[in-house]
Amino acid sequence: MKGLSLTRFLNSRNCYRPTLIRSFSDNNDNRTEHPHPIQRTFKLLRNDMRKIKKFLTPSIKQHEEVEEEKTHVGITDENEFQTHCDVLVIGGRGVGASIAYWLKKKARDGLNVVVIERDYPLLNNKACLTLPVGGLHQQFLLPENIEMALYGAEFMRNSKEKLGVDVNFDPQGFLTLASEENAETLKRMSQIQNEFGARTEILTPERLKVKYPWLNVEDVALGCQGLERHGWFDANNLLFGLRSRASDYGAHFIKAELIDFEFQSDTDVVVESGTTVNTYRALDKAIVKTPNGDTRTIKFAICVLAAGSNSEQIARLAKIGTGPGILKVPLPIQRRNCCSHILSTDAINTPGLGTPCIVDLNGLYFRRDGLTGNYIAGLTNCTDSNNENVPEQNHFENNVLQHLMHRMKTFKKPHVIETWESFYEYNVFDENGILGPHSYYNNLYIATGFSALGLQQSPAVGRAISELIIDGQFRTIDLTRFGFDRIILDQPIFDYAFM
Ligand SMILES: Cc1cc2nc3c(=O)[nH]c(=O)nc-3n(C[C@H](O)[C@H](O)[C@H](O)COP(=O)(O)OP(=O)(O)OC[C@H]3O[C@@H](n4cnc5c(N)ncnc54)[C@H](O)[C@@H]3O)c2cc1C
Repeated sequence: MKGLSLTRFLNSRNCYRPTLIRSFSDNNDNRTEHPHPIQRTFKLLRNDMRKIKKFLTPSIKQHEEVEEEKTHVGITDENEFQTHCDVLVIGGRGVGASIAYWLKKKARDGLNVVVIERDYPLLNNKACLTLPVGGLHQQFLLPENIEMALYGAEFMRNSKEKLGVDVNFDPQGFLTLASEENAETLKRMSQIQNEFGARTEILTPERLKVKYPWLNVEDVALGCQGLERHGWFDANNLLFGLRSRASDYGAHFIKAELIDFEFQSDTDVVVESGTTVNTYRALDKAIVKTPNGDTRTIKFAICVLAAGSNSEQIARLAKIGTGPGILKVPLPIQRRNCCSHILSTDAINTPGLGTPCIVDLNGLYFRRDGLTGNYIAGLTNCTDSNNENVPEQNHFENNVLQHLMHRMKTFKKPHVIETWESFYEYNVFDENGILGPHSYYNNLYIATGFSALGLQQSPAVGRAISELIIDGQFRTIDLTRFGFDRIILDQPIFDYAFM
């Protein structure tokens, strides 16, 4: 049934009409030799038997074994490589896995959804994960961001029911501090947040002193505290839950790297660009490299670009930023490097269990790591161009320590237990997500650029993309303003998030 909605939607966008792919018989991929059909059938049966055996013989496993197993959950066996699909999602972390989850949850067998991810197993890969922070807040100015974050909180709270995995949402709140210069903005933001259902309250320095005696408020004009829907969650569990539930619903997660696209010309459609007229060329196939070095193709009806900080490079493979006309406009995503530090301290009377995540005037964030008694700190403003790719040596000592010691009255010199370095997808145009169809390709959707908020926004983003693909329009939160068109029209929409 949902497949029909998809066709209706594609027809309604009246130029190129990709055909939904259902059959394997027209596979003209001659790049790799395929096994004999009987051999392939036996391999599939063997895999099924293994799955049944695993289901019938549960065993008590060590923690490490469970974690190791989690990294492989949902990854499609290479014998089940999909050469054709309805929707191909590029990137299988928070945003990509959420898109697959939502598409399959809604359409089930009506859509064949394939996710390609080059970096499995990724849940153990410290270089590319943002495990310690997992922050979730609604302290924005734009209603779209507030609404997405509210939905994120609802999703995290009900994660056990939705994903079968508890992401352990810890609603300890977020406290944003502002100087005189930003105090009015903070007040205005809090008003808008409350209008949209996010509970935040403004605190004077006097009230802050009473609530948090360990906080130095000498240079603070106001604080804005986000209450029950603000907090943090286990990002690892979220990624695992989204991927495993999407896979239960039938999504195929394939370990492969997208290296190029193939195009298909549609002579019935012409594209005018200035004085020149060109034939429309649709995206048709993804060329991917599998772990054993083979190059294979996947034909798709629709492609969704959710490759985080690598999205701009992939967009270039689709001639976005290098082609004529609208295609001259690049996807404005850059890779930015960021560090989070886990700290311990011997000091007494340090912030206790009810401490919110504090976002300071200068971009310092700081929170307690629950019952461990450790703390997590870092800087949100890791967006300088010289901080783009190379993580700095002694990042904590050079950048974080002095801010932390200034703000936390009771903190004695903390020791860094662990530092996590990671990249995120920074939208250099206006720092907000880019979400929706590409203005030239009617079978390409973009979902990236959430600039350090991609995990908390991922449930709402996945749902929004599934609405566009299946229903042809946003049904829950209207995210039209976040579309790629704003970049072509040079109409940035700025938020004023402190984190
Ligand atoms: C230190 C730090 C702290 C953060 N804290 C928070 C926080 O508290 N809350 C929050 O919500 N967000 C936070 N973020 C941001 C968050 O991690 C990102 O916004 C989020 O990971 C984006 O998700 P994504 O799926 O769009 O992209 P990614 O997580 O980058 O995933 C993209 C995937 O695409 C894959 N890929 C790329 N190219 C290819 C290719 N050619 N072929 C196949 N696969 C490909 C990559 O391997 C990758 O796995 C933080 C980021 C950092 C760095």
